[in-house]
Amino acid sequence: MIKKNDLILAGTVLIVALAAVLLITFTKKEGAEVVVTVDGEVYKTMPLDKDATLTLGDKQGNYNVVEVKGGEVTMTEANCRDQICVNHKAIHYNHESIVCLPHKVTVEIRGGEEGDIDIMAN
Ligand SMILES: [Zn+2]
Repeated sequence: MIKKNDLILAGTVLIVALAAVLLITFTKKEGAEVVVTVDGEVYKTMPLDKDATLTLGDKQGNYNVVEVKGGEVTMTEANCRDQICVNHKAIHYNHESIVCLPHKVTVEIRGGEEGDIDIMAN
């Protein structure tokens, strides 16, 4: 006859094991994402490891072209006045970002490999 305590113990072990598996699954580094925000709102999230081109445009005719290629992100085109975003180097490290101030567009890497320099330090 199986004792009630044994069942509880077996159940606890199972739950703990399951929890551990879930924890590993969820904390495992997934592929990095490219998060594009417009005016502070998330507009689109794209996987960094998949080549894609995203064109953002508004009614005023402002536009930005974000390109994901070979695991890096660049702002290939924009008609903003400063062109800082277009001239920005390609990004791929975690928390790196390209900002287009005139168009309030930001492109940020999330979950990528850490860079040598901690750019989040203030
Ligand atoms: Zn710009």
